[in-house]
Amino acid sequence: MEINSETRLCCLIGHPVKHSISPQLHNSAFKHLGLNIVYLSFDIESRYLRRVVEGLKSLNVVGFNVTIPYKVAIIKLLDVLDSTAKETRAVNTVVLKNNELIGYNTDVEGIKRSLLDSRNTLDGRALIIGAGGAARAAVVALKNLGIKEIVIANRRIWRAAALVRIFKMNDLEMKSVSLAEVGRYSRTSSIIINATPIGMWPRQDETPLSSNDIPGNSTVLDLVYNPLKTKLLEEAEKAGAETINGLKPLIEQAVKSFELWTGLHPPRDILWRVAEEALKKWGRDED
Ligand code: NAP
Repeated sequence: MEINSETRLCCLIGHPVKHSISPQLHNSAFKHLGLNIVYLSFDIESRYLRRVVEGLKSLNVVGFNVTIPYKVAIIKLLDVLDSTAKETRAVNTVVLKNNELIGYNTDVEGIKRSLLDSRNTLDGRALIIGAGGAARAAVVALKNLGIKEIVIANRRIWRAAALVRIFKMNDLEMKSVSLAEVGRYSRTSSIIINATPIGMWPRQDETPLSSNDIPGNSTVLDLVYNPLKTKLLEEAEKAGAETINGLKPLIEQAVKSFELWTGLHPPRDILWRVAEEALKKWGRDED
């Protein structure tokens, strides 16, 4: 596609951004649909965050993604927050519309869409391992799917307790536990989500749970996508559980961001192919 005077910009801001595959995903979809938009990524220092956001607004960009460590800090720089951003208190996608910056959290939709095809009925207890940004998105996704009981297990238990304080409400029972006791709760959970980097390359031999702790009738979603088949998913398979890898939520959050920016549906088959190619290359580059 030719870049010309009418080409518009979408981008990612964060620190670091080197490993993101969002540029490959979005540029392949813009190209496929013949849209005159390019997606770039910018590694920015925190002291420049405000200036960068004001600059993107002045440049009339289509929108942008926000990644670690700015998903929370960005909030005070936006004009409007949609319900997913308000609920998670974190933003990963911004749309510029009528000179207003509108914040969304499409990780919520990514996780939700990943679980929708699950063979489980989503009416039992869910266990989330981790208490960071991804765990927050997982809580909201599960709540939207109608889950009534969520246990949060985290290395630093006070962070799990903080999440429980934020999200606990009448129709949602929540409990915080330490990572050391996770096995006790996993054995009675129907949905298990790993929202920590445990098992991520180069420490791919690590897992938060072994097969003995995973019920055969559960669904295990690992948000880690490098490698695609983590040790946790191997253990879950051994136990007979349903497994979902981190690529599905990654692609589905990108699909939702793309839809918000363009009003169009990106081609999922192309996104999957591009993501798998990019992740293979990432593995080789790091070796
Ligand atoms: P974050 O906000 O930095 O939170 C990290 C969480 O992992 C915290 O709960 C932290 O525990 C825990 N943790 C980190 N290292 C650990 C270790 N060695 N042992 C035990 N616990 C550890 O990060 P995030 O944004 O939530 O991301 C978490 C993971 O999800 C990352 O691997 C990220 O790539 C992945 N993710 C995937 C998707 C997707 O679409 N597939 C989307 C978002 C995130 P403490 O609180 O005790 O430090």
